[in-house]
Parts: sequence; structure tokens; C-alpha cells
Amino acid sequence: MTDAPDIQARRQALLNDIFATAQDANRQPNTIKLVAVSKRQPEARLEAALAAGQRVFGENRVQEAQAHWAGRRAGWPDLELRLIGPLQSNKAADAVALFDVIETLDREKLARALRKEMDAQKRAPRLLVQVNTGEEPQKAGVPPAELPDFVGRMRTQYGFTIDGLMCIPPVEEPPGLHFALLAKLAADLGVPELSMGMSSDYPTAIRLGATSVRVGTGFFGPRDS
Ligand SMILES: *Cc1c(COP(=O)(O)O)cnc(C)c1O
Repeated sequence: MTDAPDIQARRQALLNDIFATAQDANRQPNTIKLVAVSKRQPEARLEAALAAGQRVFGENRVQEAQAHWAGRRAGWPDLELRLIGPLQSNKAADAVALFDVIETLDREKLARALRKEMDAQKRAPRLLVQVNTGEEPQKAGVPPAELPDFVGRMRTQYGFTIDGLMCIPPVEEPPGLHFALLAKLAADLGVPELSMGMSSDYPTAIRLGATSVRVGTGFFGPRDS
């Protein structure tokens, strides 16, 4: 059995919907990137996604991302791999080696580890800061009130360019307020990228300014448990 045609159709439907939603919101469709979240997806679907033309993928664990992508890099030089899950400082070396974008910078200890690895490997993944817009105690991310100081320190003490902000709204709340807050914070800080919106809420995120949407099940179908 192959589900390749299915992936191609799903991807095209998503791209069409992103295009239509962007136009409806008076935004340029080509300023919105579809990130296919490939965590816990079978190999055949990754291959189908590549065959369909998808090049930008999100993963939330470093080890799984290596298993999925390290061996495919050589064959697909235009891959863009984005880390969208929490990063432990002891995995910073592997993350810097593999990812093109790290979306989950959220604490000083991680910044130190990333700086060290970026200097050692002479490789500089682009960086987004994760914001805990719902101020949930169990969730990663910088609380909104601390964000300006945090981004300031990232720029001055660590020499980082912060390209954008990322958030995962609380599951039980309507996401729009969180997306609007993230957009406001990014505008205040002068950072251009907004990573927000998943399968269930990416149209809302696009209306509120998302520059990348992270779509997993909506792109690939249900994940392995
Ligand atoms: C898994 C995941 C997604 C994708 O979720 P879907 O509901 O499958 O679209 C998006 N963002 C993050 C941070 C994730 O961990």
C-alpha cells in the first residue's frame, strides 16, 4: 500500500487554502511558509512529501529528527529543517549540526550552549524565541512580560539575530488572542517572523500575521502513537 497520492493531494489542498486565506486577509500568499511537521510519521510519508515537492519540515525531537533527516540531507540539498520542540542544552551540538532554524530558544542556559556550538561548528541556524503566551507553568517559552529583556540579552550578550517568535496557545483556549499577542510582541521588538498555527487553527494564524504555519496531521495524516 502506498499513501503517496494522498500526501500530494493533502499538500496541494493546504497550499490552496493558505493561498486563499492569505488573499482574503489581504496578505501576499508567498510570505507564508508551510512547515510540514514530520514527527512520528512513517518513512513512506516522508518520501511522499519530498516527491510532492515539500522541502520545509518541522520536528520536535532532536534524535528523531536525525533519524528522519540526517541521511536524506545529501540527496535533498534544499531541505529546510526546523526544530519546533523544546531543546535541552546538552543536545545543542546535535541541534546546531542538523537544523536550519531553531524555533524554541527560551532561556539563557540554552543561549550559552547554542553560542558555544555555533562558534565551534561555524554554523548558524536561524533563531526564533518561543513565547509562553498563555503563561502555562508546564509549557516552555518566555513569559510575555519578560520577552523584551530576554530578546535584548540575546542580541547584546550573545550576538544573536532573533528572526522571529513562536507560540503554542493553550489547548483549551481560542487561539486568536494568543496569535494577536504574538504579532504585537514581534512588531514591538522589530522581529519579522511569526511561527504560529497548526492543523486546527492555521487559517486564524494566517489572518493574524503568521509567516510560517506548522501543520502535522493535516499534512501527513494521523501520527504513529
Ligand atoms: C506536533 C506539533 C505541531 C503539529 O501539530 P498538528 O496538530 O499535527 O498540526 C505543530 N507545532 C508543534 C510545536 C508541534 O509539536
